[in-house]
Amino acid sequence: MSLEYGIIHGTLRWIRNPFSGTVTYFTNIRQKPHAFRSLTHPQDPPPPAALSPAALQAEMARVQQACVFCPGNEHLTTEEVLRLPYAAIYGEKPPPDGVSAEQWALRVVRNLVPRIPEDCTGGRNESYVLIEDARHFLPQATSLRDLMWSGALPPVHFAHVMGVAAEVVQRSLANPAVRSVLIRKHQGKESGASQPHIHLQIIGADRIFPDVEQELAVTARQPGIWEEIAALMHTFGFHLEAGDGIVSYWSPFGKFSRHFEIVSLRDWQPLHRIPPARLRRFAQYAYRLLRALGTAPYDLEIHHGEGIPLHLHLNGRRYVYANIGGTLNAPVDAAEHVVPPTREAVQRLAQEMAAADLEAED
Ligand SMILES: [Zn+2]
Ligand SMILES: [Zn+2]
Repeated sequence: MSLEYGIIHGTLRWIRNPFSGTVTYFTNIRQKPHAFRSLTHPQDPPPPAALSPAALQAEMARVQQACVFCPGNEHLTTEEVLRLPYAAIYGEKPPPDGVSAEQWALRVVRNLVPRIPEDCTGGRNESYVLIEDARHFLPQATSLRDLMWSGALPPVHFAHVMGVAAEVVQRSLANPAVRSVLIRKHQGKESGASQPHIHLQIIGADRIFPDVEQELAVTARQPGIWEEIAALMHTFGFHLEAGDGIVSYWSPFGKFSRHFEIVSLRDWQPLHRIPPARLRRFAQYAYRLLRALGTAPYDLEIHHGEGIPLHLHLNGRRYVYANIGGTLNAPVDAAEHVVPPTREAVQRLAQEMAAADLEAED
């Protein structure tokens, strides 16, 4: 057994992340008294006063005029790398309300500030922004906070987001100075998203990112580690869904305690070499998790490459945790109180998607 964990009095008490070595303890952190909340900030801030429909329309127009990722402001971004019109996603079907078939639905530009200095990647900026939809707000927005989010996109649209991301990975790897390309997404300002308009980042680097390097090293020594983790998560009751050689589960191996992973145990190629049908399948699992988690803030990374299975880490914010000297605290009742609402939501979405015959797309 290569995974180290401790079961005391029949309860999982701790487990070691096989890649980073971090230990997660299961504790009663949910019972922590929160004096900050109860004494210093006794009330949540009041919601902003509702605007009249006319005032809301005017405010939304003002925001969209100022947003660098909104249609009409293409000249405000760096050079465009590629774009995909709604027609390429929706085909013969009508595009969503408020947009035309010819309008771009996905657009890729270089990040204004490269995440890895250009000097390190052969003088080329290898940090990209993928704008996931032209629409800034949800169709039924009633406030400026009703932003478009990934789980609100139709599943077929999200599948194309993944497809375009894979294409950008390929472009970036064509630069001989680039050794690995990571996909990263922040949802919500609490997770560090600087632009409210829905987007993700694709970042090429002159090295294999250290987190991935650790995964590669451990997997080289223990090729069965991912299967072993999936089996153990199932034993502990942390599974959300499994099928098609793909598993999703709440994971005790996160950087924060509300952490989920999706692993495709069958796809061990770099993202751009994964067969499109398999990538779409993975996108469906990712989509269901994102939709089930709703608009709460998170950050997400997709790791891939020769030597590890395609997988996604999602760290949810707004959840009590403590990270102390290489140990992390997770709620003792994680399986009862963290996983089930999401598991039910994910499974309901899987049924809805099957009913809508989306599985037949490939
Ligand atoms: Zn916008
Ligand atoms: Zn990883």
